[in-house]
Amino acid sequence: MSLTNNNSPVESVGALYVHIPFCVQKCAYCDFASSATCADDPAIDAYLASQLSDIRRFAELGLLRECKTAYIGGGTPTILGTKGLMELVGEIRNVCPQLEELTFEANPDTLDDTMLTNASTYGATRVSIGVQSLEDIELKELRRVHDAQTAQNKVRAAVASGLDVSVDLMCAIPEQTDESWQRTLLDVVGMGVDHVSVYPLAIEEGTEFGRLYLGMQPTWNDEEVQARRMIAARDVLEEAGYCRYEVASYAKQGKRCLHNIAYWTGITYLGLGTGAASMLNPRQYELVRSVYCKLPHIHDECPRIRISLLGREVELLSSDQATAEDLMLGMRLVDGVASESVPASTRTKLIEEKLARTEGNRLVPTTRGWLLGNELYGTMWDIAKGEVQTLSW
Ligand code: SF4
Repeated sequence: MSLTNNNSPVESVGALYVHIPFCVQKCAYCDFASSATCADDPAIDAYLASQLSDIRRFAELGLLRECKTAYIGGGTPTILGTKGLMELVGEIRNVCPQLEELTFEANPDTLDDTMLTNASTYGATRVSIGVQSLEDIELKELRRVHDAQTAQNKVRAAVASGLDVSVDLMCAIPEQTDESWQRTLLDVVGMGVDHVSVYPLAIEEGTEFGRLYLGMQPTWNDEEVQARRMIAARDVLEEAGYCRYEVASYAKQGKRCLHNIAYWTGITYLGLGTGAASMLNPRQYELVRSVYCKLPHIHDECPRIRISLLGREVELLSSDQATAEDLMLGMRLVDGVASESVPASTRTKLIEEKLARTEGNRLVPTTRGWLLGNELYGTMWDIAKGEVQTLSW
């Protein structure tokens, strides 16, 4: 029996996520749970203290005993400053004896040399830097705090620090051209990073871009542009020796993000902080509920329970729904899923629509399937029977 698989009765989760919901300024496209504030806001220290205390309590309950990966995300974790961030990194390392990977997200403007020098000493293995673009005009449009030169300096310093370095890039954004996208990709590759994630910009409700562009389908963001830029990214990154292992993720040999792979392969995870989500088995849920007493009592036995702290919602997934979810998430990966685990009718439909193909005993996504992700993932999710049961508190 797997130690961390979602159906397992073990107490420990396989992955830990800690959310830091503060940023220096709100980006125009951002619908994440984060608010703009200054680095010396006393609310940041109070928030950090409460996360540290929760981590210790969950560790005492055995929830982190087998935890293999941890991710400090945001928001902007580097807004914590070196002292605060290292306290968090050190505590996670302290209470997760089996940890193999510890990533912190960074924004170029708040990532400094002291942080980088200290990070591996305190136990971080990886930094994921939100660069998005290396063109000033594009960064301005996105309302990013940093400029291209700062991003380049910080990425170079991160690579020199010896941490594994990942960079996030965004395509189909205002002012971006095929040529400027190519330049950004080549510049990032030239800096020797280990991992690159590439996303097309999504115009979301409740954001500055949502107010400006929702329903307008601006040309810089249309589906054809998104597809062209994602294909250009694939070509440049693969040519430079990065291997695409997920729809948006490219890594050098041995540098795949284990934490994200955990999300896509049904490993249980505990999410702490404002915008965090957890995916737990019933035993783990009861342990979490012993600390977060407002969580509802669950009468029915169900294999998979998801908690959204922000939405104050608990979702109960049946085994069929958990299987459909695993298959859906598995199709984000280059390796796809075992063919035999997909019902024959679904398999035929995906192959006929050229969204997937068989490779040995695997059903793997095609490029078309990834470009038309909603159709591919939607067809997989259709395997699930009935509605997911939701409880609020
Ligand atoms: S830095 Fe990240 S989390 Fe913060 S506002 Fe920008 S996109 Fe959102």
